[in-house]
Amino acid sequence: MSAPNIETIVSLSKRRGFVFPSSDIYGGLGSSWDYGQLGVELANNIKSAWWRWLVYERDDIEGLDSSIIQNRLVWKYSGHEDTFSDPLVDCRSCHGRFRTDKLQDVQCPNHPSVHAGESRECDFTEPRQFNLMFKTTIGAAAVEDDESALAYLRPETAQGIFINFNNVLNTSRKKLPFGIAQIGKSFRNEVTPGNFIFRTREFEQMEMEYFVRPEDAAEIHQFWIDAFYEWFQTLGISAENLKLYEQTREELAHYAIRTVDILYRYFPERADQEKQWDELMGIANRTDFDLKTHSKKPEDREGKRLNPDSTDDLSYFDEQTKQRFYPFVIEPAAGVNRTLLAILMDAYTEKTNDKGETRVILKLKPELAPIKVAVLPLAKNKPEIVAMAKQIKKDLQPSMRAVYDDTGGIGKLYARQDEIGTPFCVTVDHESLEDNAVTVRDRDTWEQERVSVEQLKDYLLKRLQN
Ligand code: ATP
Repeated sequence: MSAPNIETIVSLSKRRGFVFPSSDIYGGLGSSWDYGQLGVELANNIKSAWWRWLVYERDDIEGLDSSIIQNRLVWKYSGHEDTFSDPLVDCRSCHGRFRTDKLQDVQCPNHPSVHAGESRECDFTEPRQFNLMFKTTIGAAAVEDDESALAYLRPETAQGIFINFNNVLNTSRKKLPFGIAQIGKSFRNEVTPGNFIFRTREFEQMEMEYFVRPEDAAEIHQFWIDAFYEWFQTLGISAENLKLYEQTREELAHYAIRTVDILYRYFPERADQEKQWDELMGIANRTDFDLKTHSKKPEDREGKRLNPDSTDDLSYFDEQTKQRFYPFVIEPAAGVNRTLLAILMDAYTEKTNDKGETRVILKLKPELAPIKVAVLPLAKNKPEIVAMAKQIKKDLQPSMRAVYDDTGGIGKLYARQDEIGTPFCVTVDHESLEDNAVTVRDRDTWEQERVSVEQLKDYLLKRLQN
């Protein structure tokens, strides 16, 4: 089972503290979201899992954290100033503004039962291109129309990696093939943001640029497509809600020769099967476009010099063949927020208890769960029990994220932890004072086991690994 729709997750998120609408007390700010006490933990756990898998468990990938505001020339030569735009139309009837290739994602403001463009009253202007980069100005003296002070908030993390190619190569002494990984915020002035955290103007990306010999690019591209498809499943997303999509020639970015997207079933409620899916991540073969375009003396196929502004050459010298060339780049690019949404949707389950009441259980992988264990006193008016429970929480905390909670009856406390995906609850009762043991309750089976306090940490650590 998974969530029947995104709205179920929106309401759970707000109720329990995963994600809140941003600036709510001032009426909100269209499609901006704040991550609450549980959301920030879940996002951090997703990012750590990605980083550990790529940077720590492999020997060929290094990490990087480049700046959000970069020299404007980066975005000139990357092609973003000219081509990073979406087609938009205005409606003369409702005065709405829509992205022409995503009309399916928005309701017609005047007739919400149909999509934008589907009502007889819809009267669209000709499509025009709208650049998605957020502009800003640099420096105290900068004024809005001062061109020399113009800068952008990065719309992707990738370019920060390309412009640091030589820095990382020379200091890490890596040889091809190798990768550079980066996690960070990106900004796009999306025409039609929406669907909760699926499409927002400020979001976080996990991008890796893997540099390869041109002749190896196709095979290594396929390797990363398969690897990421598997990786999402290790995070607990079921295979039936994931699928691969091969971009058509018309959909490919100008620099890419092949891109495969991994789609997730974000919209299971839609009657049309095809429309249930949308992009979780993209994995592109970007050719040698990026390193060439940022190089001092790149030459296009006609031998024309393209970049008079760069001061460095980002080509690679192969010691063995004594050849110099521009590596191809394989780019697996995922969104933190879309991954978090997919994980929440996939983990969502409902279970009926003995009394016939329906309970929500978030079956998160223990590795991702915001809280690993909740320590609960069975009688909060008994100081010895409270003290023992608080001490157990304190002792567990260095090894795992633990909380103490006595703000309700035990049934309510269990239900609350199930709903936020806490794998284990530890209950301290009257007997605990006698036998120095506690009851450990499993989130998914609701089975209980008596464990001695002495062995509790090792017991939990072992079970959390599964
Ligand atoms: P889309 O077609 O949905 O606009 P894209 O193909 O432009 O996405 P990429 O440029 O490939 O996206 O970015 C890589 C990843 O970053 C996406 O797969 C997605 O997970 C995430 N991402 C991109 N734009 C947004 C956004 N506006 N809000 C949230 N996540 C985003």
